[in-house]
Amino acid sequence: MVAILFIEDDRPIRESLERALTQRGHVVTTAVDGLEGLRRAVEDSPDLVVLDLGLPDIDGNDLVRMLRAISDVPVIVATARDAEEDVVRSLDAGADDYLVKPFSADTLDARMRAVLRRARGGAADVPLVVGGLHIDRRAHEVTLDDVEVTLTRKEFELLEYLARNVGAVVSKRELLAEVWAQPFGGGERTVDVHLSWLRGKLGESANEPRYLHTVRGVGVRLIAPN
Ligand code: CA
Repeated sequence: MVAILFIEDDRPIRESLERALTQRGHVVTTAVDGLEGLRRAVEDSPDLVVLDLGLPDIDGNDLVRMLRAISDVPVIVATARDAEEDVVRSLDAGADDYLVKPFSADTLDARMRAVLRRARGGAADVPLVVGGLHIDRRAHEVTLDDVEVTLTRKEFELLEYLARNVGAVVSKRELLAEVWAQPFGGGERTVDVHLSWLRGKLGESANEPRYLHTVRGVGVRLIAPN
């Protein structure tokens, strides 16, 4: 799930993409011009901004610079102009990627994932530490109290996602969307099974949790034991 701010004055485009992205499990807010877009970017702190370069009040590239001045949020510009200099100007202004209209929701979704991967890539160099858990994302290694824990790829991704959201209750639906790329749900059993394996490898159980705490009916939370 990604919180997207979509700044677009063309109503049919705005509404159809909003619908398509919402159906993919994303949370979408929209703005019809640059000023409203700036305000929403501050108030909603989205994970990603998609903006149309041809806005009624502010030139899209100027808007990218304004956004850059206040936040590191990844920005994808959508443009009807496919002239190379426009694209270069947007990237120079600080945009992370661009799409030439018309584009499909599938294309946008794929570009969003790529941009977010790159945006999060920088932070991936830093190990995640929760209590005695040490998660080295570059080496894909986990140690618990200095003892190496061997995890499968999915178990590692599950643990890493929970550690990135340490202290927060994460729903199974969100885990399905983020770790298994299944935003439509229906695989909660898969999450349960992997959580159970992960618990086993961390030497704990659902009844006697140390790091992985089930919040009944809501989800699971990773916290450092007292
Ligand atoms: Ca426009």
